[in-house]
Amino acid sequence: MAKTLIRNGRVLDPNAGLDDIRDVLIEDGRIAAVEADLSDVDVEAAETIDAAGLWVVPGFVDMHTHLREPGEEYKEDIASGGRAAVAGGFTAVACMANTHPVNDDPAVTKYILDRAAKDSPARVHPIAAATKGLEGKVMTEMSALVDSGAVAFSDDGATIVNASVMRAVLEYSLLVDKPVIVHAEDCGLRGEGVVNEGRVSTLIGLPGNPVAAEEIMVARDLRLAALTGARLHIAHVSSGGSVELIRAAREAGLAVTAEVAPHHLTLTEEATAGYDTNFKMAPPLRTAADVEALRRGLVDGVIDAIATDHAPHAEHEKDVEFTAAPFGVTGFETALPVCLDLVRKGELTPLDLVERMSTAPARILGIEGGSLGAGVVADVALIDPEERWVYDPASGFSKSRNSPWAGADLQGRVRAVWVDGRRVHVLESGRDPNA
Ligand SMILES: [Zn+2]
Repeated sequence: MAKTLIRNGRVLDPNAGLDDIRDVLIEDGRIAAVEADLSDVDVEAAETIDAAGLWVVPGFVDMHTHLREPGEEYKEDIASGGRAAVAGGFTAVACMANTHPVNDDPAVTKYILDRAAKDSPARVHPIAAATKGLEGKVMTEMSALVDSGAVAFSDDGATIVNASVMRAVLEYSLLVDKPVIVHAEDCGLRGEGVVNEGRVSTLIGLPGNPVAAEEIMVARDLRLAALTGARLHIAHVSSGGSVELIRAAREAGLAVTAEVAPHHLTLTEEATAGYDTNFKMAPPLRTAADVEALRRGLVDGVIDAIATDHAPHAEHEKDVEFTAAPFGVTGFETALPVCLDLVRKGELTPLDLVERMSTAPARILGIEGGSLGAGVVADVALIDPEERWVYDPASGFSKSRNSPWAGADLQGRVRAVWVDGRRVHVLESGRDPNA
């Protein structure tokens, strides 16, 4: 059916500053109308959904994900990653370049887009490598990568150590008008660190990774952004010190943006005390003071966006001693309920949360989405902010199960999702939005 009418939902559209009960009409893949009462629409011709008590939001946009294809399809592939994304309310995801082969060549960018067009219910936007092989030495051919569909550049997973190379990357990014996304960690200072350097690392005897490793690189790259005028985006900010550096840079007028991951907003280093590798990621979980600073930064808008850094790993890779396990955790299917904590605690309004998860990342990447305005693509999520459920990774859609929230009681759940006006996800259990 080409028409869908979603009635009586709480429509949250940050782009229009709208937070009110509305009817939403989807027609031919676009938002046709958002009105107080669309009951005069011919219901025979439209699938009608009663959204009373639910939120109707622009689909979330995850600007930092690892879909593992090509090369590591046993962890995830574009089909399973896209499926898990829409289950979490994400209608668009941007995938990092650290695949095998690395996405440093237009052929890889095109391959990802081809696979996504065939297999992924979510839109997939490739982020190309900034340097060949993520080696931090030779720049990629940015304009060819952009022509093939790359929306940004990043060596995520690695840091460009040589400041002169980083400067060149930023300068060339201006020519293609795309953001450069940095994974800010001084590799030398981080060393073998696997958890935050501090009280807990001392207590449990694991090598620490100090906040300074992140802050030094954030400070360097902010200086280089000032030098070049390029659009710098700082990935997965984890330290309160970084928030203050970014705040000062923004106040000075730099075109810098930043993101924070759900785990850094809600978990502390204490979680690593049990040596559970599902709490091992880079950068690591920090202190309660860092969490508080990150939340304040997100509320103030110093941090623009929430991004999951969805990083699937197979069970046999994670089920090893802490120091040997790979960094990273999954995030698509838990991001919404985890981040709703900020709404429940009165730190973010529902509209602001949707802005950080949808409108802001779409704006930073310059892609469609993040709006429910008439005429825009119908990428829509229907959310029950109250539903309580227990997250079981085994019954999720990702191929991997390395979630810090395995077995956790969560509140807030995605009920249904449309991409391009087509319904791509509907929750089987719980209250049926079509009942
Ligand atoms: Zn990273």
